[in-house]
This record gives sequence, structure tokens and C-alpha cells, in this order.
Amino acid sequence: MSANRDGSVFRLDRRSFLKLSTATGLGLTFASSLPVLMAPSARAAATPPLDAKVDRWVYSTCQFCATGCGLYIGTRQGQPVMVRGIPDYPVNQGLLCQKGIFQAEVLRAPERAKTPLIRRGDRLEPASWEEALELITATFRRILEQQGPTGLAIYGSGQLLQEESYVIGKFARGAIGTPHLDGNPRLCMASAVVGYIRSFGTDGPPSNYEDLDHADCIMVIGANLNEAHPVLGGRLMARLARGGCTLITVDPRAVQLARLSQIYLPIRPGTDVALLNAIQHVLIRDGLLDNAYINAHTQGFEELRALVDQYPPSRAAEICGVAAESIEEAARIFGRAQAALTLWTMGINQTNQATVAVNQICNLHLLTGQIGRPGTGPFSITGQPSSMDFRQAGGGPALPGYRSLGVERHRREVAELWGVPFERLPTSTTPAHRIFQGVETGDIRALWVIGTNPAVSFPDQGWARRVLQQAELLVVQDGYHPTETTNYATVVLPAAIWGEKTGTFTNAERRVNLLRQAVAPPGEARSDFDIVCEVGRRLGYGDLFAFNSTEDAFEEIKVLNANRPPDLRGITYDRLERERGIQWPCPAPDHPGTPRLYTDGRFNTEDGRARLWAVEYAPPPEVPDAEYPLWLNTGRIQEHWHTLTKTGRIAELAAWAPEAYVEINPREAAPLGINSGERVAVVSRRGRVEVMARVTSQVAPGGVFLSFHFGEQTSNALTGQFFDPLSFEPIYKQSAVRLERL
Ligand code: SF4
Repeated sequence: MSANRDGSVFRLDRRSFLKLSTATGLGLTFASSLPVLMAPSARAAATPPLDAKVDRWVYSTCQFCATGCGLYIGTRQGQPVMVRGIPDYPVNQGLLCQKGIFQAEVLRAPERAKTPLIRRGDRLEPASWEEALELITATFRRILEQQGPTGLAIYGSGQLLQEESYVIGKFARGAIGTPHLDGNPRLCMASAVVGYIRSFGTDGPPSNYEDLDHADCIMVIGANLNEAHPVLGGRLMARLARGGCTLITVDPRAVQLARLSQIYLPIRPGTDVALLNAIQHVLIRDGLLDNAYINAHTQGFEELRALVDQYPPSRAAEICGVAAESIEEAARIFGRAQAALTLWTMGINQTNQATVAVNQICNLHLLTGQIGRPGTGPFSITGQPSSMDFRQAGGGPALPGYRSLGVERHRREVAELWGVPFERLPTSTTPAHRIFQGVETGDIRALWVIGTNPAVSFPDQGWARRVLQQAELLVVQDGYHPTETTNYATVVLPAAIWGEKTGTFTNAERRVNLLRQAVAPPGEARSDFDIVCEVGRRLGYGDLFAFNSTEDAFEEIKVLNANRPPDLRGITYDRLERERGIQWPCPAPDHPGTPRLYTDGRFNTEDGRARLWAVEYAPPPEVPDAEYPLWLNTGRIQEHWHTLTKTGRIAELAAWAPEAYVEINPREAAPLGINSGERVAVVSRRGRVEVMARVTSQVAPGGVFLSFHFGEQTSNALTGQFFDPLSFEPIYKQSAVRLERL
């Protein structure tokens, strides 16, 4: 049992108890299976036996979170029937969470999009591929002639194959030349990306999951692993069960890991930078530093020392609402650890000082030399299964190989490798919300949405939905129809999904793995890869899209990424299956992959030194007031994935979590007379949702928690257009709301 900021005690309700049991079960199973399943002899028995239910097992990777669990898809007579974890896959060792285990159902859902649709008046009517592609390419051509490439935009996804992200980037920059390319990883990982670039010179998480096993101090900050990455949460719990490791949890919400922590810091929303400054203050004041590492491998120490000198724990305690002694203790444990690891997710990335908070986390590890060794490092846990691919293969803001559009040398290298005029490549990239603003003003006339559902996932949902209706041409490519976004489309293109195409995903620890096609797509659905290449060819760029398969594109990515941080040259599809994924960089066929980055203390900056950033704390742009007195925190629940286009079709998950609920602390519920199970309205300046109340001490007094999954009950009806100023990631975690009893 632990205590909230105000001293109230957390009690486990039934639902929390069941979830904690699930996570504990995964953890214990992990702990007990580890030695057996890691043994080479287990490999021979890895493929499950064939029986009356399954006549073929196909090697693949989970399509949901970026834990990246390895699995087999079982089929019978060409139909998907079940999924099983791969016993000797190093990430999950045969284990899957409930989203993973039931995912074969997403392939059979009756709402699968099976034929192209074209809007005629108020209706979307079936059309042939020829009609749909002709409409799209004719409109693209007209806009290109009238306005040039800035009239077109693409909004992609961290759920596409690496090869699909690559051809989308090649189409946008190498063929069309538009700067308007982004995707939904902007909503979850942009702050980690920009933070890594500022601290280390390039993107790329330095650590890996095995580091959980080696660390003797793990700090989890703004990450609800047991709900959002359950198998990884189980692995962390297995580590704790073995003993000899101190867990520090920093979170405004008493997530399950908080209850298992030796130190829990229930900070006020948006105060991470003040807390991290105070921890650095203690490290420097008490001499808990690795001075040799600082001198040899960093720059900026004196500026940092001067700034954090202004943040004694007593000051941070006032800002953050936690005890100064707890901050002192956390800092000392971190500073004295043999191997310290810090994990974070959206609780950092989706806040007003997100990028600079990432820099402060990196600072902690640079000051103490806790990086590049087993059990150490700042480690961002990615949200989506292939947002790492979106980042490394050039499907989003960066060019392939972590090159920057703002660097002429990088643009020249890519233009030369693609064989296109250097001048065609745009010199900048447009973040997602500015793409939407461009559609709103009419500067962007055609928007192509691929594999994502912004009508639910974008902040300020009412605004986002109005914008989607304003595009002259809105192409939505998705595996399902209707979705909240396909409903606004001019053209819907039916896409193949996971299990219906072959390619690669890269998980949060840089492990590239293979997904083999198990079944045929339904109806006339085609892979995103095929569709993008076909549009490119029809617009006259056939030379750029002369691929016979995704494997051809993977070989081309290897050329683009050679001698860059995500070097993939040693990787082949066959190797990925045989060796159970490989972590980049992997520069040669006999190279085993790279578990950790920066092992030699040399970073990807010009002088090879990492940068220590000194940052002042700043409050969020919107804070609770008399009219909207509560903080709104948002996030995932264990049963569901993003906007329910997939997990909403899985009967078991839909039954376990059929609708949204808002978590309310008893101290906030009591004056309003709200009880668990009653319906309440959550209201912000942007909108209102009506949901079931769940009165629980999991949220601290002064705040509520609401998930973002459920279309008409999404937290994004309430969130606003506030963004981190460096990464342009939305500030989903800090809005002001009020409750109304219905
Ligand atoms: Fe899939 Fe993530 Fe669950 Fe693993 S933990 S089975 S990757 S959803």
C-alpha cells in the first residue's frame, strides 16, 4: 500500500486487482521460463505442432505495442484461426498479453474494407480500383500543376511496415517533393526523438530490454507499462521478483508499478523538469557524479551546474507536491547505483516541457556515466509497433537513416541514391498539426491519410473533424470501413493489414523483426506498399517504384541507411526469422547486431560529445482554475489499442472493456455525490464527453483520468491544441476539466 500526495491511501478495487494479477502472472511466468526458454535447445521445439485446428504456422510479430512480441499466426485452409507466442523469441519468450493472444480476430472482422469507395454526394459508393486511382492521380496532377507540391500532404502511421514507411517517404520527397509529410508517431514519440537528437546528436534509444535484468535501480517516469506494454511490464516485475533492484516510480497517477515501488513520487502534472532538476542538484551537491565520464564525453556541465543549483529539493517539493526527503532519497539511490536504467513513455512525451524533460533524463545518465553498459541508459519505450521504422526509414520528419531535411549534405546524399534532382527534396518538414492547419486555410488541398484514424486520435477532436471535411480531396486508406475518419473521405482505399502482407517492424529496443504474410487480404484490399507504389507509377515516377516485393524495398533501405546509425546492411529477411530479430546497427552479414549504443562514450554529434542541457521549469499553458478545477490525464487501458479500429473488433476485449470510464478520486467524487458506475460528464473548453464514473484512489485528488480509445467518448474531445514547442507533440496529459453529475 502506498500514499497519494495528500497522504490518502491507495486501495485496489476489483478491476485494478485483476490487472495487477495479470501483470504479476506475466512477471512470474517470465521469471520462471527465462532460463529454459533462452536455452538453444528450446529452439527446435519452438514451432507449435500442427493439429486439427491449425494446418500452418506463420512467423510474425505482434501488430500492437512496440514491445514487439514475436508470434506465430496459425491458419487453417488459408483462414486465420489463432496466434501463439514464439517460445524462444528474446523479447517475450512465448508470452503474449490479451491484445496479442486474440489478434487473429482482427483479420476476420466483418467491417474490413474490401472495395474502393468514392463519395458521390452524401454517400460513399463502391468503385473499381481504376476509378479510384484515376480520381486520385488526376486530382494530384491538377493540384501539382496549379499550385505545386505544397498543395499535397500525407499523414501516415507508426503501424505500417518499415518498407511502407519508406515508399511513402520516397513518394512524398523523392517524387512529389512536398514538405507536408508526417504521421501519428508525431502524437507519441516526437519528443523522445527531438530529445535524443539534442542530447546525443541523432535519434535512437541506447538501451534494450535485457538491461532490465542487469539494472539495480530502475526509474519509471510517466510510463504505465503494465497497461500499455504488458509483456514488458511483466519482464520488469520478474526483475523485481528476483530482488536486488530498487524501483522508483514518478507518476501523477498511482499506476500499478507505483504500488510496487520502493520510492513513489506522485508529482503534480507538468512538473517533471523541476523534479529532474532537483535530482541533478542532489547528484552534483553530493558528488554522486562520474567526473571522468563528464570530462571525456559531455559538454555543458558548468551551465547545468549553475542552473540546477537553483533547484534544491525543497523548491522542487513545492512545485511538484512531493516530499523533499523523497526526492533526496531517489537521487541518492540513482546516484549510488551500479547500473541505473530510466524508462519513460507518454507521461513525459506528451507534456508541455516534453523534449527538455527528455534532455534532463539523458542528463541524469550522462552525469553518472550510466549509459552504454549493461543495465544502464535512458530508454524511451515506443508506443506503436513500427514508429521506429517511421523514424529510421524516412516515413516522417526525417530522411532515411536519420538524415535531416535541413542539412544540405543529407539531402544531396538521398537525392543521389534515389536518382532524383537535389532541388526536388524539400528543405523542411511540416508537423502534423500544421498540416491540419494548412488544410483548414486551404493551402493544402489534398490530404492522404494512411493507416490511422485522426478523427479520434488528434487533439481537439471537434476541430480535427471539421478540418477533415474541408479538404478538396481526402483519401483515407484503411483496413476497415467505417471508421471515424473514413466517414469523411472523398475516396476510401481498402488496405491489407497485419497478417496479410510481408515486411519488417522495428521495436522499441531497435530489434528489427519479420512479419510474413499468413493469409490473403479480403475482397479487393491491397497492401499500403502496393497502393503507394501504384500511385507513384501512375504519376510518372515508375523508376522510383520498380519493386517486385517489399524485400526489394528493404534492400534499398539498407543502401540508404549504410554507415548511418540505423545501419541494416547485415540483415536479411531469412536472418531475421532464423535469429529471432536483430538489433541495429548491423553493418555486415556476420555481425550479431548491437544491444547497446554509445558503449565507447562517443556520440553522434560533430565533436562526439553528448550535450548536457540546462532547462528552467515552466508551467503548462492550461492549468486548472475555478471553472475547470481538475487536471485531465489521458492514456491507454490494457484491453484496447488506439482508436478501437482493431481491438474494438475483438469480442473478448470489447466485452471486457465495452466503453470508456473516467477515474475520479473519492475526494472529488464525494462533494458531487458521484458513485462508481454512475454516468458523468467531463467538460473542457473544447468539448464534453459522457462516460461511466469509476471512483478510485488510483488518481490523486485534483485530477481525473480518461482513456483516448473510444470514438465518441475519447479524451480528445477535451484536449486542446497545445504542443511542445520543440517537438510539436500534442500536450495530451495536461488539460483542465470539470465534472458534472448526470
Ligand atoms: Fe503485443 Fe504489446 Fe501485448 Fe506484446 S505486449 S503481445 S507486443 S500488445
